[in-house]
Amino acid sequence: MADEVERLLSGRTRDIRLTGDLRRRYDEKSWRQTAKVIRSWMIWVAFVDILTLALNAILLPPQVVLSMVAPACLLPPAAILTALVWSKPRAAVVQRASLLVGMCLILLSVALVGVFAGGEFYERHLSIMLFVATSAITIFSVPLAWTVAIACYALCLYFILQWHNPILDAGSVAAATLFFSCGIIATVVARRTMNILAQKTFLLDCRDQRRVAELADANARLERLARTDPLTGIANRRWMMETLEGLWRNDGEAGVVAAMLMCDIDHFKALNDKLGHGEGDRCLVKVAGIIQSCVRADRDLVSRHGGEEFLIVLPDVDEDEAIAVATRIRESVEAAALPNPSSGVGPSVTLSVGIALKSALDTDISLAALQHEADMALYRAKEAGRNQVCVFRRPHQAAPSATEQIAARR
Ligand code: GH3
Ligand code: MG
Ligand code: MG
Repeated sequence: MADEVERLLSGRTRDIRLTGDLRRRYDEKSWRQTAKVIRSWMIWVAFVDILTLALNAILLPPQVVLSMVAPACLLPPAAILTALVWSKPRAAVVQRASLLVGMCLILLSVALVGVFAGGEFYERHLSIMLFVATSAITIFSVPLAWTVAIACYALCLYFILQWHNPILDAGSVAAATLFFSCGIIATVVARRTMNILAQKTFLLDCRDQRRVAELADANARLERLARTDPLTGIANRRWMMETLEGLWRNDGEAGVVAAMLMCDIDHFKALNDKLGHGEGDRCLVKVAGIIQSCVRADRDLVSRHGGEEFLIVLPDVDEDEAIAVATRIRESVEAAALPNPSSGVGPSVTLSVGIALKSALDTDISLAALQHEADMALYRAKEAGRNQVCVFRRPHQAAPSATEQIAARR
């Protein structure tokens, strides 16, 4: 459909023709406004008809008014029925028939009022009938065929009734019909131009909407790229820091309960040196996958913090739960048996994890301080022989040993 929109917009405006799906969407979009205009016009014409009849009853001789009543009474029901049909979307054929029949009856009613009254009213009401037709043609945004049908009907009605006007000769009738035909044709041409311009506006809207959607899509892609680590596909450090800063800002330092796990692959440089950078990259991808499979997908945050380090944040967990997750990750990496022949720990890839905890009681721990504590715990895990999990303990927290602030779990 986008191609069709571009094709139509690249051609001449006067050649714009909406077809198929575009036509259906245009009709759907413009229906409310078109129907509203038609309804208002119908009700207004019915009101004016009744008002005119009432005024005539006051101002004109009774026998003239009596002759006008029967044809004038035709108009209000025709107009109101048409307005009712256009009160909600219906089949195109029903709408078309109601508008054309409604207009025929309305124009006939106006014309017959003059014919029945005779005299000066004869020609005056035929001119009023053409004026009514012209106003409908101008404001009804309906397909050109409908407009042409209304115009032809009004002109034929004018010509036939004028032909029978006893005070006019054939030449005058022809001249007057020709004169009014020119005016009505000009109105139809203007209506056609307005229809085409409305369709062009619709096409431009379609193009704008598509471009906005494409832009939003490109922005979403860019945003995804900006927060993703290209090698492992998991979130990058920038995203993690922004997310954590937002968490700290929104909940306030006192509100956050979380465990921060800093993971670092042991002797990774040796793996690179022995097996090459490509193997090192593959190892990073696999470790990232293992870490993700060990955490809660809907709650926990995982990012590649840089190099062979991964940062994990587990919201709303206590120490035992944090240690359980860290241990599961460490054991899963070891169980994967990814080769690291030059590692000082063993023949395969291993991981050390440092944990820092923030409970609801730790009201004064900033994000940076918690991260530093996780780093310290990781440092201790490395020092203690690697391939282990260590927890950072603050002085007020109960420690398993009085001298050591970290707990090693193998
Ligand atoms: P430790 O057990 O103390 O952590 O030792 P380590 O060798 O793992 O740590 P070190 O900091 O000495 O080396 C980290 C290595 O990680 C050095 C660097 O070449 C490698 N590295 C960092 N980013 C990448 C990467 O994207 N791909 C690969 N293949 N290697 C990387
Ligand atoms: Mg490192
Ligand atoms: Mg390392």
